[in-house]
This record gives sequence, structure tokens and C-alpha cells, in this order.
Amino acid sequence: MATHDHEHEGHQHVGTEEDETALAEDERALEREARRIVALARIRQYGDPALRMKAREVETFDDDLVRLVERMTSLMHEAQGVGLAATQVGVLRRLFVFVHEDEDRVLVNPVVTFRSEETDVDDEGCLSLHDVLVPVERATSVTIEGADAAGRPVRLELGLPAARIVQHELDHLDGVLILDRTDDESRRGALGRLRPQPVLGAR
Ligand SMILES: [Zn+2]
Repeated sequence: MATHDHEHEGHQHVGTEEDETALAEDERALEREARRIVALARIRQYGDPALRMKAREVETFDDDLVRLVERMTSLMHEAQGVGLAATQVGVLRRLFVFVHEDEDRVLVNPVVTFRSEETDVDDEGCLSLHDVLVPVERATSVTIEGADAAGRPVRLELGLPAARIVQHELDHLDGVLILDRTDDESRRGALGRLRPQPVLGAR
């Protein structure tokens, strides 16, 4: 009996801690969601002309560029994305940030120097196309070259999923969206969901 009481006490104690943990987790999840909505409002959304423009080469590697990369990187994380191109924040310069093997990366003036013939079709979303997920065919491996924020050369040989991410972000720098890369039926479905809403971000 004594053992049972002891166990019971133990359970109660653990239960309380679990409740507190669950509550704290709920609060963190709500806070994250609030930050995501604020971040998305700062990212150009479908219909914004900047998303259809071709970005120009970066010529000057200065403090402004470093600050832009920092701003884009935190915006990407707050929006819970894995990649963000400069055109998505209205800056028509050829650079994007992305996450590769849990590390934040940046590619300035990126160029794909190898693209595998082998391709893969998978669903892609986009921080500028809220709630849209459409199948897109991409090369399964690419070599991409460019520079980091300080102008040092970068060369990356990437497989999936990073290869898919950089092809998506590189498209942004040429004004190309996943809607242009998917099949007709998926495009029609996506466009239906993208009709202008009375309040941005409202559900
Ligand atoms: Zn995108």
C-alpha cells in the first residue's frame, strides 16, 4: 500500500510537470505562429511585381550586403522557411539564403555549373505563395557556384533536398515561380487558392 501511495504521489507530481510543460509548449507554438505571420507580412506575396522581375548581379560586397543577408536569414527562420531570395524582400539583386545541413548559407551571384539529368518530382511550397504546395520537377543534384557575403568564392555540390531548394531560389532571381514549373491542373488549383483575400493573412 505504501508503495502504491508513493507511486501515486509520483504520478501526480509528474502529471503536474507535464501540464506545465504542455502549457509552455503551447505558448511557444503560439508565439512562433505569431512571429511567422509577422514575417510573412514582410515577405512580398504573390501578385507583387517584384516577384516577376529579374534581379541584377551584386557588384559591391559591403556592410549593406552583410546586413541584408542577416535580415533575410532571420526573416527566413521566423517565417519557418528553408530558403529566401532577395526578390522576395523587394531587393532586385542576385542573392539568396538557405539552410543546408542545419547551417545558414548565402549564395551571391549564384550560377549552376552542373545539373544532373536525373530528376525528381516533389511538392514545393514558397514563402511568397501562402498555403500553396505544388509538384515540381527538379534535377536531383546540382553544382552551384557563387560568393558568400564577403565576396569569397563558394562552390557547393548538392543532392536532395538542398539541390531542390537552390533551384527554387535561383528561379526567384529570374522572376520564375513554382506556378510556372508545375502541371496545369496543380496550377489551376493553386491559383484558386491565391485569389486576393480581404485581409492579408486572415483565415
Ligand atoms: Zn519561393
